[in-house]
This record gives sequence, structure tokens and C-alpha cells, in this order.
Amino acid sequence: MKTIIEPFRIKVVEPLRMTTREQRERILREAAFNVFNIPARDVLIDLLTDSGTGAMSSLQWAGIMQGDESYAGAESFYRFQERLRELTGFEHILPTHQGRASERILFELVGGKGKVIPNNSHFDTTRANVEHSAAEAVDLPIPEARDPQAFHPFKGNMNVEALVELIERVGAECIPLCMVTVTDNTGGGQPVSLENLRAVRAVCDRYGIPLYLDACRFAENAYFIKLREPGQQGRAVRDIVRDMFDLADGATISAKKDGLVNIGGVLLIRDPALAQRADALLILTEGFVTYGGLAGRDLEAMAQGFEEVVHEDYLAYRIRSTEYLGEKLRTIGYQIVEPPGGHAIYVDAAHLAPHIPRHQFPGQALVCGLYRQGGIRACEIGSVFHGGRGATELVRLAIPRRVYTQSHIDYVVEASAALFECRHTLVGLRMTNDPPVLRHFTARFAEVR
Ligand SMILES: *Cc1c(COP(=O)(O)O)cnc(C)c1O
Repeated sequence: MKTIIEPFRIKVVEPLRMTTREQRERILREAAFNVFNIPARDVLIDLLTDSGTGAMSSLQWAGIMQGDESYAGAESFYRFQERLRELTGFEHILPTHQGRASERILFELVGGKGKVIPNNSHFDTTRANVEHSAAEAVDLPIPEARDPQAFHPFKGNMNVEALVELIERVGAECIPLCMVTVTDNTGGGQPVSLENLRAVRAVCDRYGIPLYLDACRFAENAYFIKLREPGQQGRAVRDIVRDMFDLADGATISAKKDGLVNIGGVLLIRDPALAQRADALLILTEGFVTYGGLAGRDLEAMAQGFEEVVHEDYLAYRIRSTEYLGEKLRTIGYQIVEPPGGHAIYVDAAHLAPHIPRHQFPGQALVCGLYRQGGIRACEIGSVFHGGRGATELVRLAIPRRVYTQSHIDYVVEASAALFECRHTLVGLRMTNDPPVLRHFTARFAEVR
């Protein structure tokens, strides 16, 4: 069979609300041309993020009813801990309310002035937490990652030579840990190979530097390894996942991605002394070590989500449906980051709207165009997001997990085709306020007419 169907049937539905073009025009103005300000009820297809927007399974909902809400030693915590131990091989498992809480704890422990954190590509909250600790965040992607059109099976790989150079330049004592993000979100949802992880590990060993994973999309990354890495085809995704974690001394995870839940996170630390210090920080701001800022029911949903995400029929559907959207957009004439990533398609807005100069945010203009055209909400990952640091003007269409069917995606394709036809009418924007951190969330704009 050629068609890969959604490997589930739908038991609960949530109505979508249509809006007219006139309504959307008004809504966009009221939101100051920043789609983060648009009420979700006014969005038809929400591709803003794949974070915490997934649908839970019937077993996860059943788990919600079984949540043990004891303050200490809840049954739900033990189930969650067992599941993560089995999946990752880590002994010490800290629950947190989401990925950035794990990051905040980790970098409060190891960051600080004079420290440097290398990463294949820092995600925005990871960079913000590194910098908040006064450390420096350095991205070391492979050269291919800088060319959106270049095909590379593992475009998320870290540049190992650049890592060695950085260590030699600043000194191993300034690098408390090296991080690898799987898959690389900012760089297009691109995977990292086992071979690359092993090479990074070898460099880290040589200099005595711990290796950490930003493992939000560990299952999608493992599935790409199974599909693309020589010798991995016959292996179970679970075993590949285990290989990835075995190479690491720790990991931060947002369970809102491959945990298949709406809220939750994990911090994994192998070093018992460091783990104990992390426990103390967890208790200080998140909650006791057996709930970490979550309800017992959230831990149940996570325990089940981390099981379902390594099911291979799910992953085949997940990776293929994202690729499907990418293929259709490419056929229309959009330039996308190649090859399609695991959780999102990234469209090159500078290529689509060359009449809009970079200081007028072509990515933001495309985001507004998609909303106007079809009530579709996407996310700018260009000059607004990077604060002028990035080299590309991308718009990310992130696919929530198990939420939309193929006909929803076909609607997105149709709206995108209509927008492509009138791409020359997209208008640039100017920022009317410029928040100092993570500005894409709260910036306001006006159209340049
Ligand atoms: C989402 C994400 C985070 C942060 O997780 P939150 O749950 O949003 O705090 C960190 N790194 C990567 C790669 C992510 O995609």
C-alpha cells in the first residue's frame, strides 16, 4: 500500500471555527500583525508550534483518571520513572513542568560568566537560559546546514572540527558541557546521526567534557536514523533511542514534543552529585522531586506518551505526513528547507517575497499572508526570531502530533497555492516595539504601505 494512513481513529472531536477574510483582516490588525496575539478561536489550522499541541490517546486519558496526587512518592511518579529508565537507561529522572525548566536548572548549575556552551544549534529558550546564566551559547552546525537547499541526510549534525577548534581556543575548563539538539529545531527539524553523536562523544571524552542532549524530539531523530543511516534499517527504534541516550551524560527534554503530552518535561543527569544539586533547585522553584511542578495525572500521561512515541507505525505516519506537506509546497514553487524535517516544514520567505527587504521582515509578512488567506497560523523563524542574528528568513509550519488529518493538510496546501499566486502583494512590516528577550513572542508591528 502506498498511502500511509493516520494510524488511529477519532473518538473525540473539537469543532473548528471558520472566519471570513474581512474578519481575519481586522483580527490581524488588532493583534499588531503578531500571530502570537491572535486568540486561538480565530485560527482555523494552527501550525504555530508542535509543542504541547498534540492529541492524547485513550490510554493517556485513562492515565489522567489514575493520577496519584500524593505530594511525595506518588504511584504515578514511579510509573513515569520506570518508563523513562527503561527508555533512556538513566537512573536519576527529574520531572519538570517543561523543557525550559530543565534548562534553567541545568544552566544555573553549570553556566555562569566565562563559560561557553557549544551546541549544533541552540533552540531559542536554550540559548536564552545559557545567556541568562551569563554564559556564551555557540552554534556549531555543519556547513550544509547553512544552505537551505543543500540535501544532507543528517543536516542536524554538529561540526566536529569546529567543536575541536572551539575547545582549543577557549580551553576545556571553560566548557562545562557540550550539547547536541536532536532533532535540530532551529535548523529545520533536521536529524543528527549516531555516527555524528559518537564522533562528538569521542571529542568530549578526549577533553573530559560531558555530553548532553537536548532530546525533545529523540524519537523522530531515531526514526530518521533508522531510515537513513547505513546499517540501522533492521533495528528497532527503541534500540536506536537507547543508543542515543547511552552516549550522553545528561539530557533536557520537553515532553510537549515527543512525550505526546500538553505539558511536562524531564531532566536527566548521570553524575549523582550534580543530580543531587539539581534536586535541590527543582524543589526550590518547581516542586518536590516526585512531581516537579506537575500533577500526578500529568506524570501518568507522560509515562504513556513516552511509550507510544516509539511505536513505529506512529513514527512512519508522523515523518511521512510532514514530508507530504513539504513535497506539495515544493511543487507549488515554494522554496523549503531541504530535506523536509521531522516536525515541521520551513518555507524560505526571502525567496518568496524578494520585494520585501530584510529589515521589513519578509518572514513575518508571509506569516500574516497565510493567516489572511486561510486562517492558518505559522511561526516566523527569521529576523524577528533571531533578533537579526540569523542568516535566513524562514517561516515554520509545525505539525501538531495526531491532530490534523490529511484533508486539513490539503487545505493548507490549497491556501498556500492561492497565496503563492499573489505573493507580490505581500507587504513588509516595521516593528513598533522591540522587547529585549525572545522578542518574537511579544513584538508589535505595523504594515509598511
Ligand atoms: C521546545 C523546545 C525546548 C523548550 O521546551 P519547552 O517545553 O517549550 O520549554 C528546548 N529545545 C528544543 C529543541 C525545543 O524544541
